[in-house]
Amino acid sequence: SATLYIVPTPIGNLDDISPRALETLKSVNWIAAEDTRHTHKLLQHFTISTRTMSLHEHNEDKRTAMLCQRLKEGESVALVSDAGTPLISDPGFVLVRRCREEGINVIALPGPCAAITALSASGLPTDRFMFEGFLPPKTGPRSHVLETLKERTFTTVYYEAPRRVLDTINDVKKTLGNERHIVLAKELTKTFETYVVGSAESVAEWLEADPVRQKGEFVLMISGVEDVPRELPPEALALLSSLKPVLP
Ligand code: SAM
Repeated sequence: SATLYIVPTPIGNLDDISPRALETLKSVNWIAAEDTRHTHKLLQHFTISTRTMSLHEHNEDKRTAMLCQRLKEGESVALVSDAGTPLISDPGFVLVRRCREEGINVIALPGPCAAITALSASGLPTDRFMFEGFLPPKTGPRSHVLETLKERTFTTVYYEAPRRVLDTINDVKKTLGNERHIVLAKELTKTFETYVVGSAESVAEWLEADPVRQKGEFVLMISGVEDVPRELPPEALALLSSLKPVLP
């Protein structure tokens, strides 16, 4: 059977598409796209005339069956989303899982991903991190999710929508306090790319200072809680007090 290629596309700057991605998009039989109109603009820009079909949340099951059939018949397929890496808070999981189940060859091209781009420049620890996609839109459930970060010692990465970003930062302050390091990465790879670094309070103040700052695309990163025990274990405390008389 032929190959399903996972092809990342730019998250802003069109120059971020790789030569290999362009070559793949040109040479496959089909491009399965989250939004074909959106993808046509990209294809037009790079003068690629490969046929497209839609694959999104609402037709992924049906399209998956059809695409697997075509792959088995020897037709190759490239999967793209509107921006960045497919399957990362984007459609494609159902298709890739099915291809694996059916022994169809799947190859992913490396490329743009907002979460990884933001994390690598954040200055927050990258040795361990958790990507959690989008937070719930309502403050109740969102605070509930944020509570789970209370004891977390590693970095958390979220995608956030412009109309919610300020409320979310305020929920971060409410649930986790003002001690965590917050990094808000905005408009990555675009003209007004910005990193806002500070406490939840200072990041909220930055957003509030000018409503224009709340427009655009955001990656929100939250540092882990400091990994030092707040209290010494009892044995250490006992040892310290026994040493007290002999210490200067
Ligand atoms: N699959 C994509 C990827 O690999 O990054 C993510 C798709 S998700 C539906 C879209 C979200 O990604 C946006 O709401 C925003 O949180 C984030 N995002 C995408 N492009 C971005 C950019 N240029 N700057 C900051 N965040 C971005």
